[in-house]
Amino acid sequence: MSGGLAEGVVERCERCGAVLDVSPDSVVVVCGYCGWVSLVGGGETKVLAPDCADVSALRNLAESFVRSKAGGNVRLRELAFLMVPFWVVELDTWTRYNGYVEEVRTRQTGVGKRSRMESYRIYKPVRGEFKERVAVAVYGRRFEAIFGLSQLKASVISNYGRAHELNPQAIRGWSAISSELGESEAVEAAKTRVSEEHRARVESMTSKIFDCYTTANPLSSRLLIYPVVEARYEWGGKSYRICIDGLKDSPRILAAELPLTLRTRVARALLTVAGVAGAILLALMLQPLVGVEELPEELRLAAIAAAPIVSFVSGVVGAYSATIVQRVMRALKARDIMVLGG
Ligand SMILES: [Zn+2]
Repeated sequence: MSGGLAEGVVERCERCGAVLDVSPDSVVVVCGYCGWVSLVGGGETKVLAPDCADVSALRNLAESFVRSKAGGNVRLRELAFLMVPFWVVELDTWTRYNGYVEEVRTRQTGVGKRSRMESYRIYKPVRGEFKERVAVAVYGRRFEAIFGLSQLKASVISNYGRAHELNPQAIRGWSAISSELGESEAVEAAKTRVSEEHRARVESMTSKIFDCYTTANPLSSRLLIYPVVEARYEWGGKSYRICIDGLKDSPRILAAELPLTLRTRVARALLTVAGVAGAILLALMLQPLVGVEELPEELRLAAIAAAPIVSFVSGVVGAYSATIVQRVMRALKARDIMVLGG
């Protein structure tokens, strides 16, 4: 299987002659007809795939979803059955960090009528470490995005254990997409991703980080092609996208663009009006507090600022709602890393 492809030259499978999906950046090419795997530059890689749901069942799922969300006479325009490449890299990671946490405390100064609250800051050093075994899903394409990718990664990372060696018979009717990332690049991408994630976690625990180091040792990496249905439908002259997880036994809508119907828009406009009215009421209620000497300065400032802030926020939200024409439904929390153990 080594050195099967000269870049940009071979577009047909060496074994069965079928036309292959090959981009100039392809590194691992899978023939969707016979399952033959070719690596640009040699080496060996096994390609895994989970079992796919039935194509007609997926079509029905897409159709009934569109009907329920957009109404009766909407039609699906495109339906693509894709086997999308992902690397899943398992790593042992170890992160050490060192920084400080800033805390605001208050104390009482003076006595009797002159007594008032005063705030001051303290800085507490924090240092620590954590060790985790993780799995990271890395998308196998360089430039093309795919709608619903974050949700798709979450699905891949939860289901990669169900993938087995590719059986070409089982992916008939699906288009296998080649990977543009080789194994070593995928491992590097996974290491970078884990470092970022750990740094973000440390940032959320500290006010300032002095050092944050992550070492990551790869344990395994596997290339999966994962069943995804990309669908499009039209509503009111606009095109909307759907991403469906095509896994056998648990096909589901992962992400979908939904049109904003007139009823939703009216509801949002009413909410904006209610928000502004609430702010006016709030301002009237808080007015008397501003002059009260006994209250700490922070509270008096808050009494002045609260109403404009509420009204500003509802105005911004209202303006935003008025301009968007769609919302996006996401079935899963975006997640490309799964903790396997400590
Ligand atoms: Zn072939």
